[in-house]
Amino acid sequence: MADQNKRDYYEVLGVKKNATDDELKKAYRKLAKQNHPDLNPGDKEAEARFKEINEAYEVLSDKDKRAKYDQFGFAGVDPNFGAGGAGGGFGGFDMGDIFGSFFGGGFGGGFGGGGQSRTGPAKGQTVRTSLSLTLEEAAFGCEKEVTIQHIETCDSCHGSGCAEGTTAEVCPECHGSGQVRMQQRTMFGTMSTTTVCPNCRGEGKIIHQPCKACGGSGGVRKSKKVSVKIPAGIDNGQAISVRGQGDMGRNGGPAGDLIVGINVKPHAKLRRDGTSIYLDQTVSFYQAAVGAEIEIPSLDGKVKCTVAPGTQPGTTLRLRGKGVPILNGRGRGDQFVTIRVAVPKNLNENQKEALKKFAEAMGEVPASAAKTEEGHHHGENHGDGEEKSFFSRRKKK
Ligand SMILES: [Zn+2]
Ligand SMILES: [Zn+2]
Repeated sequence: MADQNKRDYYEVLGVKKNATDDELKKAYRKLAKQNHPDLNPGDKEAEARFKEINEAYEVLSDKDKRAKYDQFGFAGVDPNFGAGGAGGGFGGFDMGDIFGSFFGGGFGGGFGGGGQSRTGPAKGQTVRTSLSLTLEEAAFGCEKEVTIQHIETCDSCHGSGCAEGTTAEVCPECHGSGQVRMQQRTMFGTMSTTTVCPNCRGEGKIIHQPCKACGGSGGVRKSKKVSVKIPAGIDNGQAISVRGQGDMGRNGGPAGDLIVGINVKPHAKLRRDGTSIYLDQTVSFYQAAVGAEIEIPSLDGKVKCTVAPGTQPGTTLRLRGKGVPILNGRGRGDQFVTIRVAVPKNLNENQKEALKKFAEAMGEVPASAAKTEEGHHHGENHGDGEEKSFFSRRKKK
């Protein structure tokens, strides 16, 4: 069970058995600083000492644990101690705190220690922006550049937040874990709760000389141009995630993502619904009646479209494969063309005469009746020419 080779906690900190809390703290601070992994990179012995020091202080700085340790030795504070590693159920003694302090000081590992503390690696925040595309850009995909504001690792301190030549001190209150245990007396007995360390506000470290460039945060807000690949078939309201272009991560965690919301600008003529494209196309009465080959707008530019003779208003033609490409798929939707027929306006006398003849040819208006009814229609709005003759006639009366 208990490791027989372990050094006595008082010996580790170099204090007497009856040392006061202040003496313990002073001794701990001095030793922790000397052996901090950040100051002794790659030094395994310093690492081991640092761990030992934290462990000793963890116990001796806690009244209850210290009393148990004084009475029972190592077994008094943790029966599992010496088993090594994390993950087990460590009775009254929180291994997470120890390892948290060990790894938390910029040491890099994603060790399991206190989950709520801010000292472990954490993914950076998501940054959001939006991008406006034309219908064609959204349909066929494209590559666009967006300018975003995000938090990047500070160049001056490489994210440590410390002024050049200085390092952060492991918080002496929480030993770097960012959390402290509080003893509370309740009717059920003494309860131990973990809260955010008030001394370092959960950071686990104290920066005495903050980096001037970032004010100690380790990150700076910067403007950056990010190239975004837009897949063919994307639609209004959808979003694209660009990995790792959000805010920098904390304590070695990965950067957050960039989310680009897609805004598709309305097209002058084409409407989109899913993979379908809709167009209202007006043809003349003549074209609708006798048929025509017309040019219409499409995603692919102008395309030819055949209007069959006798096409009725409201008829919908389907152009297969002229719609929007299927997002992350194969093939394209269709384009639907609804035919509108323009009724001629502001006809001159010749045009009217021609239409009258046409109506007669269709048997619509009897040739004789057309003439007698002429006078009858003068009072109605038949265009400028008619209006004039109507008023001139009234003046004569
Ligand atoms: Zn900095
Ligand atoms: Zn602290």
